[in-house]
Amino acid sequence: MITRLCGGMLVLPDGCETKDLWIEGETILSLGAGPAADRRVDVSGCYVFPGAIDPHVHMGFAVGEFLSSDDFASGTLAAAFGGVTTILDFAVPEGNESISEALAKRITEATRVSCVDVGMHAVVHRSEPLLQQEIEACIQLGAPDFKTFTTYEGLRLTSPELLEVMTNVRAAGGLVMVHAEDDAGIQARQADLAARGSMSPMAHAESRPTDVERDAVREVLRLQAETDCPVHFVHISSAQSVEIIRNAQQRGRDISAETGPQYLLLDEGVYRRPEAVLFMISPPIKSRRDQGALWEGVQDRTLSMIATDHCPFTREDKMKYADYRKVPTGMPGVETTLPLMFTAWQSRGWPLEVLAQAVSTSSAKRFGLYPRKGVIAEGSDADLVIYDPSGLRAIASKDLHMNVDWSPFENAEVQGAVRDVWLRGMPLIENGGWVGGDAPGEFLDRCSRMKRV
Ligand SMILES: [Zn+2]
Repeated sequence: MITRLCGGMLVLPDGCETKDLWIEGETILSLGAGPAADRRVDVSGCYVFPGAIDPHVHMGFAVGEFLSSDDFASGTLAAAFGGVTTILDFAVPEGNESISEALAKRITEATRVSCVDVGMHAVVHRSEPLLQQEIEACIQLGAPDFKTFTTYEGLRLTSPELLEVMTNVRAAGGLVMVHAEDDAGIQARQADLAARGSMSPMAHAESRPTDVERDAVREVLRLQAETDCPVHFVHISSAQSVEIIRNAQQRGRDISAETGPQYLLLDEGVYRRPEAVLFMISPPIKSRRDQGALWEGVQDRTLSMIATDHCPFTREDKMKYADYRKVPTGMPGVETTLPLMFTAWQSRGWPLEVLAQAVSTSSAKRFGLYPRKGVIAEGSDADLVIYDPSGLRAIASKDLHMNVDWSPFENAEVQGAVRDVWLRGMPLIENGGWVGGDAPGEFLDRCSRMKRV
């Protein structure tokens, strides 16, 4: 079966070109010229992006007594509606489970029900006697990235533990991801705030200021220098961190970083809103000045990826406790990134190939999926988003598919909409409606092709 997409503006690595595109089976057969097609689809007037990759989501993630409200079924359906054809989620060991046991279980859980392709990162939350074997077992299972935390009780690694993980991961050819916020700094500020009786969402922001992120980023870079382990910083939120990471990259260090739409489009004013509790995420949303520095980081690719950290909780869950320390942190985002970022790009007049890099190509390259994913090229998976740039509309959570009753971007005006989505040559969405059948997503083994670009 050969399909010809006719008249679209293809967002290619070097720029946009109006060309037809041929799909055969699961892959892109050719661009610009091709054989007689069994099916023709008119996509004129639309951009054709490589399917977006969200390298940081948490479907059905347990946070204390709460569970993030999207499971793999609802979260990947929402992802597809947002033009995201690949998500990378996390496996967190529970109880005495080993890292690789948790990973195997999570892969099974995702593969049964997912609407888009799914890869998995393994979480290392304690030092293990069999760490090296566990890391190798995870790589065998298809997950070469190891997420670590410098904060959160039960997840946090000390510096010596993180050093050990980096040493072992480096030896195995993997990559370490880090949630960088300095735990001691947070604890001290939380104690201060408690003494003053501050329990509000604003106290959450005050307990995790930019210095807290900066100190952890510096410490991680110190450990990275000792081990030479490839490191990826998740959800960078502040100007100081961007500056430090940029300097390290310029010195040739193997470091990548992401930020998210919430940090690029919102500012700390959200913590003064009546519904401030909804916006509680970690790290918290920072100042306008930080926001400006993040955009500069995106522009010069210090922050090469835009990831959502999608981890929604319902209004009821978010509002259950008045004490900020008991509120589940996280917000929805996987479905809204592409329209929001397309709109932001248009307003800045930035080239769309840079948007494609930020929401797709860079993640594919860093996380071992390129060139199968992340690019419109002959032989790549036919993961495609047909984006119709015409018209303005307001984001409304009631129109979205995420299993949550609010959006941080409620009423935000966006330009255009996702019209069609293809996953490995299968139409998932046509004219804004689901046609993808039942759970077409597959697990992505990122190790048989473990090549970082
Ligand atoms: Zn996260």
